[in-house]
Amino acid sequence: MNERIYNFNPGPAVLPEEVLKEVQSELLNFRGTGMSILEISHRAPAYEEVHRWAKADIKELMGLGDDYDVVFTAGGASQTFALIPLNFASEEHPGSYALSGSFSEKAYAEAAHLGVGTVAASTKEEDYARVPAQEELHIAPHAAYLHICLNNTIYGTEYGYTPKTNGVPLFADMSSDILSRPWDFGSYDFIYAGVQKNLGPAGVVLNVAKKSLLEKSPAELPTMLRYSTFQKNDSLYNTPPVFAIYMVGKVAAWIKAQGGLAAMGKRNAEKAALLYGAVDSSDGFYCGHAAEGSRSRMNITFRLRDAALEQKFVAEAKERGLSGIKGHRSVGGMRASIYNAMPLAGVEKLAAFMDEFRRANR
Ligand SMILES: *Cc1c(COP(=O)(O)O)cnc(C)c1O
Repeated sequence: MNERIYNFNPGPAVLPEEVLKEVQSELLNFRGTGMSILEISHRAPAYEEVHRWAKADIKELMGLGDDYDVVFTAGGASQTFALIPLNFASEEHPGSYALSGSFSEKAYAEAAHLGVGTVAASTKEEDYARVPAQEELHIAPHAAYLHICLNNTIYGTEYGYTPKTNGVPLFADMSSDILSRPWDFGSYDFIYAGVQKNLGPAGVVLNVAKKSLLEKSPAELPTMLRYSTFQKNDSLYNTPPVFAIYMVGKVAAWIKAQGGLAAMGKRNAEKAALLYGAVDSSDGFYCGHAAEGSRSRMNITFRLRDAALEQKFVAEAKERGLSGIKGHRSVGGMRASIYNAMPLAGVEKLAAFMDEFRRANR
């Protein structure tokens, strides 16, 4: 294979080609240092600038002010599931969890394991085909936070609203839709994302949170498990995942150059509409998993009416350079992940293939 294909993988996932080329051009000699970014000290001025700009661009894109701080941690979003209850919840003030899919279940399981988790709502009975509605959220008044997963990567559902919590801090796993649309980020107290879906390579978690929260980790926690350690030391207490942060900075700058979140949101809505259109106009040949009001713009999940055709669908798509569309084993069917960096042309090609495949196989 000599050409790049269209990569619909759920994560790690497609990155902007312009960014990859820029990274390639800087690799041997990063900004006149005569070394690559992979080889320089995380205390070197050339890296400090990368670190500072990545943080500044992210806050600017999210429209957040001085009461928020950006903190980079390792261990993936999955480790964050445990760090959050360790840092913020207690038996008197448990974390309250809205269950909307596999990752929110895993987040809740960590809090429950520590004896500090409660369930605010769950749509499991409906096979997670939708996210909980505002009126279904039962947040304990003494809860330390309400935790939601804004976009459910596996089931292909997404919140279309920001929950009202009556003063309880709002925490969100935004791993798979962060910076994909304009959003009221300022209504959230703690936002985190494993960046390998929409913002960069695997290896770093982006946390954007109220300073007042980050400052108050329990002193009895080990140093590296306290958010306050990261906050106080500008995420440079130990060696951070330098290359991943560098890539996040590049992708954030790319988003700005594309016209920011407004442009991203418009393009992502257009892309999603093309694929849902192919599902909805298929006369039942394709069947979407997500309920109408909860459809994700990032992960489009659907089945073929005739499940026996699914292998053929995947194989023929692959022949056309459309890769990574097999669904997660827990849901089955297909899933096309169309993050920020997936070009419109790739989605157009997939939608055209869906129509062609339907006509050839009905
Ligand atoms: C992929 C994903 C995770 C898990 O991320 P890791 O960094 O692999 O731990 C958590 N939450 C959501 C919403 C995801 O999409």
